[in-house]
Amino acid sequence: MPTALILGASRGIGFELARQYKQDGWRVIATARKAEDIDKLARLGAEAHPLDVTSADSIAGMGWRLDDEKIDAAWLVAGVYGPRHDGFPTEQEFDEVMHTNVLAAMRLIPIVGPLVAATRGKLAVMSSNMASLGHRSQAGASLYRASKAALNSVLVDAALIYGPQGATCVAFHPGWVQTDMGSKNAPMPVATSVSNLRATLARLDASANGSFLNHDGKPLQW
Ligand code: NDP
Repeated sequence: MPTALILGASRGIGFELARQYKQDGWRVIATARKAEDIDKLARLGAEAHPLDVTSADSIAGMGWRLDDEKIDAAWLVAGVYGPRHDGFPTEQEFDEVMHTNVLAAMRLIPIVGPLVAATRGKLAVMSSNMASLGHRSQAGASLYRASKAALNSVLVDAALIYGPQGATCVAFHPGWVQTDMGSKNAPMPVATSVSNLRATLARLDASANGSFLNHDGKPLQW
């Protein structure tokens, strides 16, 4: 039975990934930071663990739990959008967004990458097309954009380190998706985004290592 690891599965895209993998008969290891969400994931049949991606202690605890696990598909999903006001971000806003979207990946990927590589599995980070530097027609949400561009850079590092060891590492744009972050105005139901993401990841081979992809597999400009 293949195993999926979903980091940040309390709701939205992460929860739907856990739900769909479970439905397909996968073993699912999923994380959330609140007790009620851990219970919710356990009720789904996932092996649910506590993880606040902004806490070094919490990440260390997750590392011990993952020791020697075989992971076929790992998804780093936890993320925050940051301030929706038009002014400059405050230092506190900057710290929260960068800590959640970037530092967490820098700390979690060194734990997860070797496990995925040992299984010749796949590692995906949830980026955004708003990260693209080469294809930008709009300004705004500069902190979120900068954080996802930095996350993309972390992913390229992961591809260079864990690709030669057997992992396929990719950054995804999930679409504009109906979640708390995406809002009800988003065009894409979460189930559609997630089924596309899973299908795309499943058909990738090693040649995709280090790529930035739309949920349907189309390459995106960094
Ligand atoms: P939601 O706002 O619905 O969910 C965000 C998830 O991240 C929640 O599970 C939340 O947990 C978790 N999270 C945030 N901070 C932490 C933390 N410190 N520790 C643990 N978990 C944390 O967002 P989506 O499901 O829409 O987004 C998922 C990912 O996809 C994000 O990285 C987002 O940037 C990206 N994305 C989403 C798009 C969209 O249109 N929805 C578009 C492009 C990218 P909790 O419930 O505890 O807060």
